[in-house]
Amino acid sequence: MILIKYVLALDEGTTSARTVLFDSDCRVVSMAQREFTQIYPKEGWVEHNAVEIYAMQLASVTECVAKSGVSPSDIAAIGITNQRETTVVWDKHTGEPICNAIVWQCRRTADICEQLQGRGVSDYVAEKTGLRIDAYFSGTKLKWILDNVPDARRRAEKGDLLFGTVDCWLLWKLTGGKIHATDRTNASRTMLYDLSADRWDDKMLDILDIPACMLPEVRSSSELFGFTDIMGSQIPVCGIAGDQQSALFGQGCFEAGEAKNTYGTGCFLLANTGTKRSEVKNGLIVTAAATCKGEPVQYAAEGSIFAAGAVIQWLRDELHIIKSSAQSEEMAMQTDNNGGVYLVPAFVGMGAPYWDMRARAAIFGMTRGTDRNILCRAALESIAYQTNDLIRVMRSAGFPLKCLKADGGASQNSFLMQFQADISDTDVLLPVSPEATALGAALLAGLAVGVWRDRSAIKGKLATGIKYTPNMDAFEREKLLDGWQRAVLACRSF
Ligand code: ADP
Repeated sequence: MILIKYVLALDEGTTSARTVLFDSDCRVVSMAQREFTQIYPKEGWVEHNAVEIYAMQLASVTECVAKSGVSPSDIAAIGITNQRETTVVWDKHTGEPICNAIVWQCRRTADICEQLQGRGVSDYVAEKTGLRIDAYFSGTKLKWILDNVPDARRRAEKGDLLFGTVDCWLLWKLTGGKIHATDRTNASRTMLYDLSADRWDDKMLDILDIPACMLPEVRSSSELFGFTDIMGSQIPVCGIAGDQQSALFGQGCFEAGEAKNTYGTGCFLLANTGTKRSEVKNGLIVTAAATCKGEPVQYAAEGSIFAAGAVIQWLRDELHIIKSSAQSEEMAMQTDNNGGVYLVPAFVGMGAPYWDMRARAAIFGMTRGTDRNILCRAALESIAYQTNDLIRVMRSAGFPLKCLKADGGASQNSFLMQFQADISDTDVLLPVSPEATALGAALLAGLAVGVWRDRSAIKGKLATGIKYTPNMDAFEREKLLDGWQRAVLACRSF
């Protein structure tokens, strides 16, 4: 009799909590998903209710396991992957969050960031944390909560409050308040973590006025964190990684030089740099990659694009020219070329490699004949152009990126994937299952309990699905890239 073991991945994203059950061949056995509320209290502010997130996560776990037909006692381990940077502060006695979680997209701390830049600490932040000073990361969000929620600072200093990113919050809840820990991939997104020394940085805590007693213990991404009860069975939680590092692992990018791009609401291109830290330059930042207990710390270079799939949602929800995201593909395919039209989706400024908060979105080159199909095409092409900008800076920073491994919702769009291969003159590979983010957490958890012996045992199971190969002549490519660059320049000087 063959003993099949299962691993459960809790994939807590920005808009929904999902749970995916994998078997030991890395195949998806069952999946469930629950959306939760997006709270926009003011222009540029984004919040979540952490209690709701936990409830939705639990509901998706129950549904996923129940419909799989798998007995909870056959689940060997649980892995958690999460939206990164989102900041939760709760009372350790009552378990109640003291305010809504501040979401990674929230720009409320832009002023705090400007003040920090004015104090001349940018180089220190880059050297210690691998990041740029930006409202995107957790540190200033935590400071904001301590400065603005009544009595928060006094309670934090007294040791009554705990801070965590969403992985840490879920782990604390799942273990009945016993374990207050996170993993290095999440810690590296707080702007409070000394990447090279591998510990919280006292000077950053000092600069942001954050009491050390509220911070979680930081561990590797694959080890025993604690136990949780799933429908009467005690199951070990043994894997934690932020969503992008989890996808890097789930795509099997274990060696230096291997890279993946996740095409979701935004796009995140990460290249594993092994045990060597890259520099914070050319718009790229440094982040901890997922590693197992006892292994040396590994790093990744990261480029973040804020609007990717979001531009397709915009076509659907604001312009109403498509009914579903998938429809953008058939419409783009109706036209032979872009008709000279470029769309730059700088809705919230531009992320890497430009990091320009003042840039605004625009469409260029329209004629009276420009129609919905061309707009769809220009929107999809904009995702590939932005990714190509990152590939370019990655290459000039010394990462060869021999091919691009793609995943995420918009990677299901074959027009986009072919255009990416063409415009970047590189092969684009898709995994058999697009669930790379959840799979990464499952692999990290399974490795800790021996479902998989080591990375080589996993590599053999990560079969590649479709491969897109470049099919565009160099002259055409240069012409299109020139048009894109001119459009970006215009958006940035608007
Ligand atoms: P996230 O984890 O950021 O919520 P997902 O990986 O679930 O993102 O992908 C959702 C995003 O991908 C949405 O912005 C959606 O518009 C886009 N998307 C999904 N399917 C397609 C498609 N076939 N073509 C283009 N975009 C798509």
